[in-house]
Amino acid sequence: MCGIVAYVGPKDAAPILLEGLQRLEYRGYDSAGVVVSNRGLKLRKVKGRVADLAKAVPAKFKGTLGIGHTRWATHGVPSDENAHPHLSTDERIAVVHNGIIENADELRAKLVAEGVEFVSETDTEVLAHLIARTVAETETLEEAVRKALKSIVGTYGIAVVDSERPKEIVVARNGSPIVLGLGEKEMFAASDVSALVRYTRQVVHLEDGELAVLTADGFHTFASGGRETAKEPLTVDWDAGHYDTGGYEHYLLKEISEQPESIARTLRGRLDERFHIAHLGGLNMDARETRSFRRVKIIGCGSAYYSGQIGAQLIEELARIPADAEPASEYRYRNPVIDPDTLYVAISQSGETYDTLAAVQEIKRKGGRVIGIVNAVGSAIAREVDGGIYLHAGPEVSVASTKAFTSTAIAFALLALHFGRVHDLSPSDGRRIVEGLRKLPDQIEQILKQGERIAELAKKYADHPSMMFVGRVRGYPVAREGAQKLKEISYVHAEAYPASELKHGPLALIGPDMPTVAIVPDDELLDKNLTTLGEIRARGGRVLMVGHRQPDAKLADDVIVIPKNEIELDPILLTIPLQLLAYHAAVALERDVDKPRNLAKSVTVE
Ligand code: GLU
Repeated sequence: MCGIVAYVGPKDAAPILLEGLQRLEYRGYDSAGVVVSNRGLKLRKVKGRVADLAKAVPAKFKGTLGIGHTRWATHGVPSDENAHPHLSTDERIAVVHNGIIENADELRAKLVAEGVEFVSETDTEVLAHLIARTVAETETLEEAVRKALKSIVGTYGIAVVDSERPKEIVVARNGSPIVLGLGEKEMFAASDVSALVRYTRQVVHLEDGELAVLTADGFHTFASGGRETAKEPLTVDWDAGHYDTGGYEHYLLKEISEQPESIARTLRGRLDERFHIAHLGGLNMDARETRSFRRVKIIGCGSAYYSGQIGAQLIEELARIPADAEPASEYRYRNPVIDPDTLYVAISQSGETYDTLAAVQEIKRKGGRVIGIVNAVGSAIAREVDGGIYLHAGPEVSVASTKAFTSTAIAFALLALHFGRVHDLSPSDGRRIVEGLRKLPDQIEQILKQGERIAELAKKYADHPSMMFVGRVRGYPVAREGAQKLKEISYVHAEAYPASELKHGPLALIGPDMPTVAIVPDDELLDKNLTTLGEIRARGGRVLMVGHRQPDAKLADDVIVIPKNEIELDPILLTIPLQLLAYHAAVALERDVDKPRNLAKSVTVE
């Protein structure tokens, strides 16, 4: 989940590496480091942020080839020593690594027995020593890297430099992304395109098992056996501007505020007013095939999973096909039964979430049909699936997902409409949904206007040690996502429950210290939800209601009223005030909003 950046060309590498690392910092940020090659390897690495590293890099840190890293520790605490790059003892080889080497302990013991002295606790350092052991004998660096990789078990994205071959960088991928960037007489590599778009839009994604050699003149890629592979560069349509905060105080607020546009992009060209259907060409499925599925199984992790729950409800309601969502991280380990009549849907903003990718591979291995709902074009999951829907939400930088969450829910609404209209959803219901979808961007705009008031409410509620989130049926995944957002960025403990389950246990927790955020849409369950509010208030619990109308004053202390859409689509709108609530609570508590502790974007480790 860390960031890797590599550069070789005519320019000074350090500023390019530092700039790239800054853009990747959201992926891991407990320590950072760079190496440049200039008559030997020059290394700087520090515990802390990229800004701390930039201070530690002297002005005269010259060299036109280098590699850099931001770390998200898996082996050993965040410290200067454990930061990457890691060097071999003779300082000839430097390695940066993203992922986990599972047999590192075993390899370390062997190397120690041979007399190698380790200076860090990381699994990664093993690789530097392994490569150094053979590099003197092998004809190429690539061969030494390949030999070392043969003895390791685990996942990696790596970049390696050799002080004796100061014109080339070797990168390799297995389970952790590596993207090459093609420049004019210069080459880049990174773990994510966001580090490259300032310099080039021409990229090449490595496949698992592939290795590449980069020089200023270009690149060569090789399959794991050593055979050269042919790769066509892809043009990315995101540019550097997408990665700026755009005048907002935080990426998170920028991304929340962008939702009218990001949703419009997800919908663009996909709604059909004539038949009241959705055009989803990327599914690669004709009507007959679409009709053949009897179930839909959705998998994703974290917020992607909660958006999948909203998706499952949309599919059941609009298409009347049984659907459910499950965390991909669980699913992959429970020897799932793969059914030929089920359509599997995998969700991942980055398209690189390791648990989700592994689940997709497991389903495919057993012959299941999988489609992807993915934001990052050309990413690992997008390449692995049989078809899918791109979100086109634009890059999401803040660790906590917001616009990708709503765009995923929209993608599910489109999928549900598509399935519904080849089954029994009537044209008039189809029209109702198409019109509802079209209204969403404006309605989100109206909710965003309540930002200041929601900030006031957030201040009022943020100092409680714990909060309950409740919702019924359509409101339940909304409550779960609301609780997740609050936990992630404000560190306030939050629990989400189906409102119907409250009196079966957790009501015991309710009292003046534990306020409840209640999701109360104006649907057929309104009265039931209002009864729940009464039960909470009767126990001295405070209630912040999010819904479509002002209830009796006895039932809620505070109310956020939002515009009403179709009942099936309301959950999408109901998440927006909860994003703002979490954001403003985190600001009030002075948290590091975009980079919450212990977390990282794109969880590319198991
Ligand atoms: N496993 C390596 C470490 O702990 C790499 C972690 C990462 O992906 O940043 O240093």
